[in-house]
Amino acid sequence: MQKYKVVIIGSGIAGMSAAIYLKRGGIEPVIIENNVPGGTLNVIPNIENYPGYINVSGPDLAMNIYNQVNNLNIKYIFRNIWKIDLEKKIIDDDIEFDYLIIATGRRHRLLNLDNEDKLLGRGISTCALCDGSFYKDKEVIVVGGGSSAVTESLYLAGICKKVTIIHRRDKFTAEDYLIEKVLNTKNIKIIYNTNIVSYNIKDEKIVSVTLDNKKKVKTKGVFLAIGSTPNSELFDVKKENDYIITDNNCKTNLDFVYAVGDVIKKNVYQLTTASGEGSIAASDIIRNDK
Ligand SMILES: Cc1cc2nc3c(=O)[nH]c(=O)nc-3n(C[C@H](O)[C@H](O)[C@H](O)COP(=O)(O)OP(=O)(O)OC[C@H]3O[C@@H](n4cnc5c(N)ncnc54)[C@H](O)[C@@H]3O)c2cc1C
Repeated sequence: MQKYKVVIIGSGIAGMSAAIYLKRGGIEPVIIENNVPGGTLNVIPNIENYPGYINVSGPDLAMNIYNQVNNLNIKYIFRNIWKIDLEKKIIDDDIEFDYLIIATGRRHRLLNLDNEDKLLGRGISTCALCDGSFYKDKEVIVVGGGSSAVTESLYLAGICKKVTIIHRRDKFTAEDYLIEKVLNTKNIKIIYNTNIVSYNIKDEKIVSVTLDNKKKVKTKGVFLAIGSTPNSELFDVKKENDYIITDNNCKTNLDFVYAVGDVIKKNVYQLTTASGEGSIAASDIIRNDK
C-alpha cells in the first residue's frame, strides 16, 4: 500500500493547477491520470480567451502546464481508477490518501455520426462561449432544445450572421423567458421535429448537414448542445444531475474530498474557472493541514 497526503484524480487544467499550488505550498501531491495530461485541452485547436495568450492551441497550453508540473517534480501515476473506498480512504486497494481532489472533467454527448470525431474542434463544437468568435458573420447550426441550446443560440446570434436551431422535438424545454428571446431574435431560425443524419464535408471543412427529411442546411459550424455527463460515477459524494456539489472552497460534503473543474455543478465551464478551482481546493488543503 502506497500512502499519499493528497491524491488528485485527473490531469486536466483543474487537476494540474491544484498540483502546482499544493507542491508550492509544501504539500506533496500525486496525480492519477488514465489518458494523457491536459484532458480536454488536447481537443481544442485554438484558445483565444485564456489570459496571457492572444491565441494558443490546446495541446500547446497542455504541454506548457505539464512542463511546469514536471519542473516541480510532481509524481504521476498513469492508470485508470476502478474503485474508491471513501470511508477507508483507499483507491483500488493499493493507494491510501488523506485528501482527495476529484478533477475528472466531463464528456459531452455527441450525435455519433460519421466524421464527427474528425470535425470536433474543426467545424463541430460543444462550446459556443469558447468557439463562437471563430464563426463571426457566418451561418451556424445549434443542435438541441434545452437551456444550453437556447442560451448558446442567443450568444451565437450576437456574433454570427444566422443561427439555425435543429431540435428533435416540437418545443423547447428551456425557461420561458429564454424561449421568448429566441423566438424574437431575427437571425435565429428554428427547425423542429428534425434530426441531422450526416455532416457534409468539402476540402476537409463542414459545408452543410443533411436532415432526416433529406433537406440540406448550409453551415460553417455545428454547435452540439445535447447535454454532457460528468465523470463522477466513482465518487460517492453529494451530486445534482451527476455534477458534484461543492462549497466556496471546492469541498464536497466530505471534509477530506474536494472537486474541481468541469465535474462540479457551477455556472461557467471554462479553463479559467477550472484552473481557479484547482488553486482554491489546494489552498484550502494547505490551510487545513497546518
Ligand atoms: C471543444 C471544446 C472547446 C473548448 N474551448 C475552450 C476555450 O476556448 N476556452 C475555455 O476557457 N474553455 C474551453 N473549453 C472548456 C474547457 O476545455 C474545460 O472547461 C476545461 O478543460 C475543463 O478542465 P478539467 O480539468 O475540469 O477537465 P478535463 O480537461 O476534462 O480533465 C479531466 C481529466 O481527468 C481524466 N480522468 C477522467 N476520469 C478518470 C479516471 N477514472 N481515472 C483517471 N483519470 C481520469 C481525463 O482523462 C482527463 O485528463 C472547451 C471545451 C471543449 C469541449
